[in-house]
Amino acid sequence: MSIKYVYYFGKSHAEGKADMRELLGGKGANLAEMSLLGLPVPAGFTITTEACTAYYANDHKLPEGSEEQVWEAMRKVEEEMGMKYGDTENPLLVSCRSGARGSMPGMMDTVLNIGLSSQTIPALIKKTDNPRFVYDSYRRLIMMYADVVMEKAEGIEPEGEGIRKELEDLFESYKNSKGYTEDGDLTADDLKVISEQFKAKVKEVLGKEFPDDVNEQLFGSINGVFKSWNGKKAVAYRRIENIPDDWGTAVNVQAMVFGNMGENSGTGVAFTRNPATGENLFYGEWLVDAQGEDVVAGIRTPSPINNDTKNEQNEHLQSMQDHWPTIYKELDDIRTNLEVSFKDMLDIEFTIQEGTLYMLQCRSGKRTGTAALNMAMDMLQEGLIDEKAAVMRVSPDQLDELLHPIIDTDKLKDAEPFVKGLPAGPGAAVGQAVFTAEDAVEWQKQGKKVILIREETNPEDVEGMRAAEGILTSRGGMTSHAALVARGWGKCCIVGAGQLNVDSANKKATMANGLVINEGDILSLDGTKGFAYEGTLELMDASENPRFQSFMDMVDKYRTLGVRTNADTPEDAKVAVDFGAEGIGLFRTEHMFYGTGREKELFLIRKMILSNTEAERREAVNELFPFVKRDYKGTLEAMDGMPVTFRLLDPPLHEFIPQSEESLVELAGELGISKEEIVQRGEALHEVNPMMGHRGVRLGITYPEVTEMQMRALFEASVELVKDGKNPMPEIMVPVTSDIGELDITKELTDRVYKEVCEKYGVDKIDYLYGTMIEIPRACLLADKMAHSAEFFSFGTNDLTQMTYGFSRDDTGAFMQEYLDQGIIKVDPFQAIDQEGVGQLIEMAVERGRKTNPKLKVGICGEQGGEPTSVEFCYKIGLDYVSCSPYRVPVARLAAAQAAIKAGK
Ligand code: PEP
Ligand code: MG
Repeated sequence: MSIKYVYYFGKSHAEGKADMRELLGGKGANLAEMSLLGLPVPAGFTITTEACTAYYANDHKLPEGSEEQVWEAMRKVEEEMGMKYGDTENPLLVSCRSGARGSMPGMMDTVLNIGLSSQTIPALIKKTDNPRFVYDSYRRLIMMYADVVMEKAEGIEPEGEGIRKELEDLFESYKNSKGYTEDGDLTADDLKVISEQFKAKVKEVLGKEFPDDVNEQLFGSINGVFKSWNGKKAVAYRRIENIPDDWGTAVNVQAMVFGNMGENSGTGVAFTRNPATGENLFYGEWLVDAQGEDVVAGIRTPSPINNDTKNEQNEHLQSMQDHWPTIYKELDDIRTNLEVSFKDMLDIEFTIQEGTLYMLQCRSGKRTGTAALNMAMDMLQEGLIDEKAAVMRVSPDQLDELLHPIIDTDKLKDAEPFVKGLPAGPGAAVGQAVFTAEDAVEWQKQGKKVILIREETNPEDVEGMRAAEGILTSRGGMTSHAALVARGWGKCCIVGAGQLNVDSANKKATMANGLVINEGDILSLDGTKGFAYEGTLELMDASENPRFQSFMDMVDKYRTLGVRTNADTPEDAKVAVDFGAEGIGLFRTEHMFYGTGREKELFLIRKMILSNTEAERREAVNELFPFVKRDYKGTLEAMDGMPVTFRLLDPPLHEFIPQSEESLVELAGELGISKEEIVQRGEALHEVNPMMGHRGVRLGITYPEVTEMQMRALFEASVELVKDGKNPMPEIMVPVTSDIGELDITKELTDRVYKEVCEKYGVDKIDYLYGTMIEIPRACLLADKMAHSAEFFSFGTNDLTQMTYGFSRDDTGAFMQEYLDQGIIKVDPFQAIDQEGVGQLIEMAVERGRKTNPKLKVGICGEQGGEPTSVEFCYKIGLDYVSCSPYRVPVARLAAAQAAIKAGK
């Protein structure tokens, strides 16, 4: 039997359903589901993602059998709609849209009004008695088809801005020549002339005729949409969102319904709840006598669909609730029906054709982190979803967004915004104004923070939007491109700031009151309110959502993986505990020598490092001892009753060699040697490859007195805390090991110091664990042996990734982007664990280690420990905990709970 590539949907009958999104794409699966719910969906069919994959495997040809299946489905559509494609009496027009598994707003292409030709146009005019509408549809078809199918899909790199812009210019100059100001001023005859001019221009620029054959139009469009999967915008978006290239897109061909058939028609976009706040209120925008693209393109300011959607910018416009109460009621009922069925907040598109409502699309709506959290908790209370579903409803990224700063409310009191717009993306941003996406990318590369200001954004701007701290546009509504994309990323964004006159060509924006914003000017945006300010406003933490705590409590009910933090000061530890950390997984001892107020400690460690004899070094080490003990003790106290993993010194020696004249002289005086000698000793410490040099445990092997001092500090701190009635839980961690011998020698030393401290304080035991970091592939291979001495392993995946790939962790800048662009590497392995390679080593080490010691405790403390996919991996391979920076603790907790729920726990 041949493969089924085409799935029909229509009134109360569909071959697909909601859970078939992998095959039908999100849009196709949901159109099928809406049909099954009996909603008014114009009939159509979905060509599967499998057909797309086959299309690419097959040198850009549709797979065998698919063409026949398209015609078969088309016949059914014709039957249901009572029209015929290409007919000279009652012609059916169709749209052709992309639909990937996940939403990729505006990243792929669409062609509307397919099926208009010299044969069908007269018939449609006769049928509708509306030549203006027909020619308006025709000129739109020519523009979309030329852009998507004849230019982009053909891979033509235009010299200027492309055929779409050329046609737009032609359209504008025609209007000007007639003295028109609005599109509505154009008559049917005007639009007919424009259509002819468009066709001539297409021929002139692209060297080919716009096809008059409706079958060619149909298959040209299907090809064009498949090809847009590999268009520049789509590829860039997939990189950012980590969407695999081989997913492919489905294509939806659907009977056209028209919102631009006069005053009885219209179109709109809505969310079943407020996507910015999560409030359980129907929220949307609509336009009379318009096509869908008019609402999202931000060219006309859309009207609110109801009073709840009114804001400063649109309150003067009439709501649909008031204008068409019956249709509004029908739409509102559909909203309820859809939420009950999909059990989620949905983003819907609808059209009213001459008084009849049609549903064109529904999908899970993009939302802010705040909205995601509020909706999950509301829907749980409403009984729409259960706890597990509520936990799954907030993505780790959305939770992360809640932890992002907002403008300090105190500072806001005295500040006056220079312009107000719509609050499209939450949080706050401060940066320098730039006016093009390219500049945003360029400036960000130079380490600058930027605010991207545009009249309106389009998908070409996506990389610039990504690079910017915040986005400000003068046009567009809450459903415009900028708003959708920014909200999806949790990025601060204001749209529709209509008072701002943006002049991208001259890189400035002006206000009627004479204020000029020039490139480079510093601005502060409040994306939660939609206000923009001149200058820098201070930011503050936004995690005070009162429901954050109860959500996180629920998350922990489903979490089995431990979450610790990487912290080196009692202050950081405190922040992490407030965020729910259950211990410290990595205390980097050398970090106590960084930062202000640490001058004495820094001086002493330099002295230790530059000492030449054991006697000199012992002196320096003894002087360091009280400082180290103080820090260990303070941290153990702050983490009372929770484990704290102290890593023995692992300093990059070269970083500690003094540079300034003053420190050189001071150190020379202290050591009683000349400045030249200090310089010489420093040079002797220079290593060709310090990352693989005299570091980690190697330092303790060559200078045991350094390790001894740390052990003593830790044991003494612990005993003293116990004597004070506290419950310290120290763990000693030996870094950068590659052989059991290193661990055994260090253990002997530990045992000796342990005994001495016990005797000194008159105690017979001090509780502690002894373990190692696993950062070198050899340690993974020999994990069974390492586990004889170590009671725990903590994977240092920064170094382990470095040594497994052979990529210097500090020097990937020169090639990583290229590796990502060329698809050699899917995600930077220093951000997310490379499960295929590094992950294999980790898995093997866990298995071998636990064979020797079934009670072996295993965790991870590299940077990947707070990254959601890595957390899930750690859960799957049975680690006991992950450890990450304090601000990522909630994210790791959520990712861990979600991993458990996904695994069916
Ligand atoms: C590691 O290597 O993963 C690690 C946590 O240690 P550091 O980053 O300090 O080398
Ligand atoms: Mg390391």
